[in-house]
Amino acid sequence: MRRVRLTAEHPGEFKPLVAQELVFQIPGTGPEPMRRHYTIRRYDPENRIIEVDFVMHAHTGPGAAWARAVRPGDTIHVRGPRGRIRYAADADWHLYSGDESALPAICALIEAMPAGSVAIALLEVGSEADVMALQSAARLDVQWLLRAGAPPGPGPLLLDALNARQLPSGRGHAYVIGETSNVRAQRHALLARGFGKSQIWSEGYWRPGRIGGHDHIDD
Ligand SMILES: Cc1cc2nc3c(=O)[nH]c(=O)nc-3n(C[C@H](O)[C@H](O)[C@H](O)COP(=O)(O)OP(=O)(O)OC[C@H]3O[C@@H](n4cnc5c(N)ncnc54)[C@H](O)[C@@H]3O)c2cc1C
Repeated sequence: MRRVRLTAEHPGEFKPLVAQELVFQIPGTGPEPMRRHYTIRRYDPENRIIEVDFVMHAHTGPGAAWARAVRPGDTIHVRGPRGRIRYAADADWHLYSGDESALPAICALIEAMPAGSVAIALLEVGSEADVMALQSAARLDVQWLLRAGAPPGPGPLLLDALNARQLPSGRGHAYVIGETSNVRAQRHALLARGFGKSQIWSEGYWRPGRIGGHDHIDD
């Protein structure tokens, strides 16, 4: 991951909700910029600083390449905030699941949880070196799943961990984001376990071969 700090001279009415995203307009060789979505990891309105964490994935598309090459003083156009991800404050407990691309959103949501709330997080990363400390006032049960040499993408780690979990009683809310096929498999597993569709926020943030954009997963 590489963290980039952005500022704007005139942020205006910039009031992002937790885990919303920005759309980066990355200049290319054509007339149109290449658009890539990235989560607002943290926003400090007083100092007008936006933090964004970029996955330095092996395929190095324009988003990752921009983040790798960017230097202090460079400029970039971004659009936002946007995105419909919302913390479900009325749920009794919260289940977060995702890979590195989802970590900025999941960390932001977890950090914003009030004291006394309950969360389970299933987090897939490459190796032990990618494991990070999570800050939260919530009662947090985190399970890190290490690919240990396997490439990121479609794989059984998150689904197996989810299936092996006994979930708390009461009304849960799940936020399942990351690689599209993994998200879809977990969504279907949650539906099979009695989750209602309105209890699941699921979105594919990337998938092998896909260029930018995202996959709505609502089946
Ligand atoms: C709402 C939303 C929020 C997001 N927030 C973040 C964020 O905070 N940080 C972040 O890093 N990403 C985030 N993503 C995912 C990011 O937009 C995609 O990973 C995007 O494809 C990266 O653009 P790129 O130009 O590097 O690669 P692209 O040109 O889009 O893709 C080229 C190829 O690279 C591979 N690839 C793309 N992304 C990944 C990946 N994460 N891991 C492994 N291989 C990959 C695929 O095979 C793809 O076909 C978010 C996506 C959405 C929809």
